[in-house]
Amino acid sequence: MQLILILIGAMAILSGCGDTPLPERVVLLGLDAADPLVIEVLRERGELPHFDRLIGEGVSCRLRVKEPIFSPIIWTSILTGFKPENHGINSFTLASGQEGGVRIPVTSNMRRRRAVWDIIGSGDRTVGVVGHWVTWPAEPVNGFLLSNYTWPPSTEYEKEWAPSADWDTVGLRSWPDGVEQGVLDAVDEERFLGERHFKGAGMLDPALTHYLRKDLRYLNAGLALFDRENPDFFTLYMEGIDFFQHRLWLMHSYYENQRFGASLNGLPEPESPLPARFLGRIGPMVADSYRLADRLIGLILDRLDLEKDVLIVVSDHGFRSYPEGTKLHVGDDKYEELPFWHSDTGVLYAAGPPFKRGKRGVIIRPEDVTLIVLAAFGISRGADMDGEAPEAIFSRPFLRAHPIESISTYETGARGDEAPIESPYDESIREMLRSLGYLD
Ligand SMILES: [Zn+2]
Repeated sequence: MQLILILIGAMAILSGCGDTPLPERVVLLGLDAADPLVIEVLRERGELPHFDRLIGEGVSCRLRVKEPIFSPIIWTSILTGFKPENHGINSFTLASGQEGGVRIPVTSNMRRRRAVWDIIGSGDRTVGVVGHWVTWPAEPVNGFLLSNYTWPPSTEYEKEWAPSADWDTVGLRSWPDGVEQGVLDAVDEERFLGERHFKGAGMLDPALTHYLRKDLRYLNAGLALFDRENPDFFTLYMEGIDFFQHRLWLMHSYYENQRFGASLNGLPEPESPLPARFLGRIGPMVADSYRLADRLIGLILDRLDLEKDVLIVVSDHGFRSYPEGTKLHVGDDKYEELPFWHSDTGVLYAAGPPFKRGKRGVIIRPEDVTLIVLAAFGISRGADMDGEAPEAIFSRPFLRAHPIESISTYETGARGDEAPIESPYDESIREMLRSLGYLD
């Protein structure tokens, strides 16, 4: 009897089970519009040390998206494992029923599929969800959730763009209700991310200050809740890179061209040379938004042990210049010729025990991300999901110990309303969408 037990023990060690336990924690960081080529250029100059570490220790994929390249649609694919036609979020806004009615931003009740945090949290794992698109009204989770309506628009933003809304009437901003209260006060912002980490922002445009402060608030509160609650799965969304690229791509391109000799990629030369001081202040701000993301990755890496834990960084699309005459689908019913806009290529970087080290060049789709997260936790995929977890990115011993399995479905019944829920935040969101050119 004893001999048999020893033999079974030896076989378990030989088969590698003992060496490849499931990760203790998985963190999924979402960086809107983080572009693979911009990241490469900044890494070559040594400006993104934490991206370097993540990429050096893990896999580096390109994420290819289909039109229309709109953030709420793609993030919902990333976070459910389903294509837009199946997850139910197909636009930024939906026209309200009334004649001449305004457009209402899409809301979480319209999502037809369960989110990755619902699946992970339905076992005994806890979750933390911070700032993602289409998460208001906040739904119950096994942990905490700060919806994308957790805080009112900043005062700078309100002054410039939007009438003030009765914020207190917006319910269900977080789960458990009010979990964000006290967190921000308890955070010494300088411990995490303050404006001092962001050299140039907000000098020329109050909207930039708004986006920076909005991000800093979610990032600081998110990290504070992460430290306090210790969730097994944590996901945090950062919007600033997208916004800074929309506003400042031209200045970024001129700066990179003049300072580092980068190609203008078909953008017209400035008619007269830009004053060096002006360009020196405005030109680096897009790169600043990547450096802020790099610092955030550093703060998360400080909290993880990549021998046991997983960090995945993903973007929903990239950003690029377009040749003259390119018509782009830039809003729900909006086509425009623009010199620069979203590109169809984002990134996914992942490091930790489930992943190969130094693997490059695998192309994935948004709907694959949920399945990659589930596989990293050793959780079965839903056979009805549209995505795949590409085996090429996982380490062989990990897959041998934890092969990717399926169950028929995680869906527990019909969900997904046809219409969004109106809120006092709507006018502010419409203003934001207009400022980015998504809405007339
Ligand atoms: Zn986006």
